[in-house]
Amino acid sequence: MRDNFIEYFENKVKKTIDDYKLVNKKDRTIVACSGGKDSTTTLYLLKKFGYNVEGLIIDLRIGEWSEKNLKNVKHFCEGLGVPLHVLDMRKEFGCSICYIRSGIQSKEKLNNCAICGVIKRWMLNKKARTLKGVRLATGHNLDDEAETVLMTFFKGKPEIMLGAGPHTTGIMDDKFVPRIKPLYFCSNKEVARYSKYRKFPVLYDPCPCSIGTYRRDIRMWLAELERHFPGIKDNIVNNFLALLPAIKKKYNPDRKLRYCSVCEEPSRNEICKRCEMIKILFS
Ligand code: SF4
Ligand SMILES: [Zn+2]
Repeated sequence: MRDNFIEYFENKVKKTIDDYKLVNKKDRTIVACSGGKDSTTTLYLLKKFGYNVEGLIIDLRIGEWSEKNLKNVKHFCEGLGVPLHVLDMRKEFGCSICYIRSGIQSKEKLNNCAICGVIKRWMLNKKARTLKGVRLATGHNLDDEAETVLMTFFKGKPEIMLGAGPHTTGIMDDKFVPRIKPLYFCSNKEVARYSKYRKFPVLYDPCPCSIGTYRRDIRMWLAELERHFPGIKDNIVNNFLALLPAIKKKYNPDRKLRYCSVCEEPSRNEICKRCEMIKILFS
């Protein structure tokens, strides 16, 4: 039973990597590690399949939660013989993510993950590029993607979905490291089961700061729907993939990034979201 599941799961991930040509064996692939089951599984499998991987973790400085995750990831990478790079929020920004968040939230109504996500993406892309990464792998799974699809539909901004899918395609820019999601077709339950079978040293509790977010509401609602209509998450993701070429055609005929006028990092607008947030913080 255990061995069958492990084989099934690993084949599924391998098939995603092959079918979508996510990465070549020799390309340096930076894996964004958080200490959770998804990114740990991603790192483990890419290494197991013979890819050229290095880990990258942001120490967000969310108290004990960050400390435990950092310790686990360091230990795990050592065991696998994978180089690990650590970005420390205190060194990069002079304070923890919590401080940045509360400073912004005292001026604008933005939820924790909206702020943290923007800052993390900015840091990961910049560091992955500095490390000469050809791909940036994340642990996003099927549940995450189903949630993202619904969130963007509900917000009425289909153009945001251009970055969705097993890999970011259509963005050709030297400063942007393309993202890949090897666990794209694996459900949250499957990843948890695999991680437990493998006895990965990970925290299964959600991030203590993910409370009261739009994503968490959608997650709970989707879980309820899935109970009544099994397979609904697969359907959301597969139908989205079928529509993606049409969405790209309409919103992204020739997608070019511009550079933020403040930090010079890739951006869709004149000022990137990260710099907009920092501006709010110091306003
Ligand atoms: S769950 Fe939200 S607040 Fe926590 S690390 Fe992820 S993006 Fe940041
Ligand atoms: Zn910027």
